[in-house]
Amino acid sequence: MAEADTVHISELTWSDYDKRLRGGATPILLPVGALEQHGPHLPMNCDTIIPTAVCERVAARVGALVAPPLEYGYKSQPRSGGGNHFPGTTSLDAATLIAMGRDIIRELARHGARKLAIVVGHTENLMFTTEACDLALRELRGEGIDDMRIMHMGYWEFSSEATLRKVFPDGFPSWNLEHAGVMETSVMLHLNKDLVRFDRVPTHPPANFPPYDVYPVEPDRIPASGALSSGRTASAEKGKFMLDEYVESIAAALSREFVL
Ligand code: ZN
Ligand code: MN
Repeated sequence: MAEADTVHISELTWSDYDKRLRGGATPILLPVGALEQHGPHLPMNCDTIIPTAVCERVAARVGALVAPPLEYGYKSQPRSGGGNHFPGTTSLDAATLIAMGRDIIRELARHGARKLAIVVGHTENLMFTTEACDLALRELRGEGIDDMRIMHMGYWEFSSEATLRKVFPDGFPSWNLEHAGVMETSVMLHLNKDLVRFDRVPTHPPANFPPYDVYPVEPDRIPASGALSSGRTASAEKGKFMLDEYVESIAAALSREFVL
């Protein structure tokens, strides 16, 4: 039997995986998402589905493999995800996320991986996945492995200015206020419209937050819908356009950094 035609590590046999990883030439992509409310109209796994879809497409282009996504993330914050008080939002303490990331990186390195890209789908994860990279690399250096390289990114940062002007003709609010907004709703419509209850898209104006947080969180300061802006101008076409740019730009970045 030939090797399975899949980009997913989890679908390979260990021996086929071993062949791919030995020598360190095959890049590994690790999506890091969240289980977090995304307004009344989107499923709670948006922050996992979208980076996983990006990783699958990038992997097919550059000959990489995709590790199983982390489907839980750091606590949702009011100004970037609505806050952690919503039912369904199920979050990890920072130490847990750091430890999981660090363990996975170390394991991949043990298998021979030397090129890793961490593709984050949830803003609140970013500093803790950064810490996981730092601690894992420090640990690996102590074991004599000093040639592991990691790219670390939030996929949304690959939207060009031109794309933002096109998708948001009336002005781009901010990535934080885009929580369950036009981009995520559009990409989800493109990827799996059956998971989008478009008739429930909130139409309220973008949330208006002061430039600070108050703890404990006061839910009254946050839109009750859980969305931080309205996705009513979303469309599957916009979603395809944005996703295609993520895939193209991230594949190009990998090719550049890892000389693929
Ligand atoms: Zn999201
Ligand atoms: Mn999120």
